[in-house]
Amino acid sequence: MQFKDIVGQAAIKQRLMNSVNENRVSHAQLFLGPEGSGSLALAVAYAQYLSCEDKQPEDSCGVCSSCRKYQKLMHPDLHFSYPFFAKHKDDTSLTFIEQWREAFIAHPYLSLDIWRDYLDAENKQANINIAECHQIIKKLSLKPFESTYKVLILWLPEYLDKEGNALLKIIEEPQPNTLFLLVAQNQDQILNTILSRTQLIKIPSLGYNEVKDHLVEKYNQTEDAAAQIAYLSNGNLTDALIMLQQDTKGYHKLFVDWLRLCFGNKGLEILPFVDQLAKMGRENQKNFLRYGVSFIRECCLLMAGAGNLVHLPAQELETAQKMTNVMNIPQAQAISAELEKTHYHVERNANPKILFLDVSLQIIKILKFKTIPQGTQYIPN
Ligand SMILES: [Zn+2]
Repeated sequence: MQFKDIVGQAAIKQRLMNSVNENRVSHAQLFLGPEGSGSLALAVAYAQYLSCEDKQPEDSCGVCSSCRKYQKLMHPDLHFSYPFFAKHKDDTSLTFIEQWREAFIAHPYLSLDIWRDYLDAENKQANINIAECHQIIKKLSLKPFESTYKVLILWLPEYLDKEGNALLKIIEEPQPNTLFLLVAQNQDQILNTILSRTQLIKIPSLGYNEVKDHLVEKYNQTEDAAAQIAYLSNGNLTDALIMLQQDTKGYHKLFVDWLRLCFGNKGLEILPFVDQLAKMGRENQKNFLRYGVSFIRECCLLMAGAGNLVHLPAQELETAQKMTNVMNIPQAQAISAELEKTHYHVERNANPKILFLDVSLQIIKILKFKTIPQGTQYIPN
């Protein structure tokens, strides 16, 4: 992985290269960035740069023996640790290294969802277990084989249980020339003891234009299609790339049809509609719901008189304007909250039929009967 293959993040890349060239590499660093910001890819590119035998001012060379091994994630001084779904108690990251290489090389903007698909472990809880912590200590206590540095990249330390404390000593008193890179998404979920011992590198989400331009340049999308996906993805390139493979244009019609059925309180027609949603598959459902949330947000902007901030293609804008005649801001917010809640449950594998039927009933209450949920109580408007 070279820096040039990572979208945006110019300031971070420069800062990382400077730390190498000025010889002040901190031995334990925490790359903290939201999903789709490229934090894992940056950590790998940084390690590759550090180990490169012919460093260029802007990037690693990409062709030396070290870089070639790095591109395949096969360098003997590069180690990975990540959450997995243990089938046996002595399973470690090494058990899944083949799948890991395959997943990262195909998806440098890896998410836990994508990783789960590679492990074929739909409903299991991901975790970094104690056997893995012992493995990390063992790996880091060896001398580097070929490079000056030995690097361990630990993806998602959020999944370290209390057992993670076993790593404190090695973070605090590392072997010389050892680099420990943690790549995390949620600062709140990391053991404080680990947080306080690492140097924090905050990685921001990508900007709207960075995502849009990338989709146009690398994926031959039209400006309009790229704009739509960039907008929906909210700076999350992982999501944007998933959406590329799906029909986001279809979401608009589907979503508006759904609201129309709910507004008309058409019980009999809602059932087959719910079936159709239930069959879409989890990723599609999540994107559909996310589309719904963004569309409702645009309606709110229109209702609040901030039409100049609205980002919708002409036809969708027209529908949004019509929606503002049948819905007020509290109703829109209530629908949006229901969609968010549904998204949360889809992610956790709730039964989609029950879920979509339930949210349909909630939307009927909100749109047709104008009752806004207040906790579990429904208070007439
Ligand atoms: Zn190189």
